[in-house]
Amino acid sequence: MTSSGNAVPVFLYHSVSDDPPPWIAPFTVSPRVFAEQLDRIADAGLTVVPLRRLVAALRGGPVLPPRSAVLTFDDGFADFYWTVTPLLTDRDLPATLYVTTGAVHPPGGTARGSLLPPAPMLNWRQIATLDACGIEIGGHTRTHPQLDTLPGRKLCDEVFGCKRDLEELLSHPVESFAHPHGYSNASVRRKVQKAGWSSATSVGYAFSSPADNALRISRLMVRADTPAEQFQAWTEGWGAPVAPYPERLRTRGWRAYRRVSAGLGRPVGGPPTD
Ligand SMILES: [Zn+2]
Repeated sequence: MTSSGNAVPVFLYHSVSDDPPPWIAPFTVSPRVFAEQLDRIADAGLTVVPLRRLVAALRGGPVLPPRSAVLTFDDGFADFYWTVTPLLTDRDLPATLYVTTGAVHPPGGTARGSLLPPAPMLNWRQIATLDACGIEIGGHTRTHPQLDTLPGRKLCDEVFGCKRDLEELLSHPVESFAHPHGYSNASVRRKVQKAGWSSATSVGYAFSSPADNALRISRLMVRADTPAEQFQAWTEGWGAPVAPYPERLRTRGWRAYRRVSAGLGRPVGGPPTD
């Protein structure tokens, strides 16, 4: 793949930890590696912009600064509060955190439950604090299902209910959604739009671009086994396709990915469907 001035890396992280539960370990980077990656982003001259800047550009609003990047974090692991936030704050970097609301503990209570295996997750008080500190809180459903397999009523509960959970907690509109496992189809995306989410991120293993779909924004997933050279290439605008791109590349990327991830309990699944 060649470098493209339009390529916008939207980085997708999960846990940042030295001792993750085994099921999430393949999708976890250590704090040291994470800090190195933030340094690479700075050294490459990228401007980290809030997700809403990219969404505005996708919708015909102001163009992005040249060589923009976006940081996103899925699921709502507790290490976001203790490990990620200080590193972002030190560098004055914006980020979006997508929360699975059923995995969140209310103060003094237990979580309603989600399909994610056990792991230390954020509690509601920490999420409210992160919101107050300027981290964008987005939604990632209530239980982390594969949305494209759900009947209508359940789909509504996940997509509308998650938004309601977060807006009740934060007392302001919550705009940004991420498809669990990266899965969506046209009817899921219609429902997401109807619920009032202004954007939705996917996985895609591709750069986003000003021509990307605001309800299926492509992201580059950073994993435990992402080589430093690969991450470096992404910061330089090459090493992955640029969305939107032909379906055969999408399929090929997912096939390669499934080979490494087969058999693991995991927070992400197969290719986005249409
Ligand atoms: Zn997830």
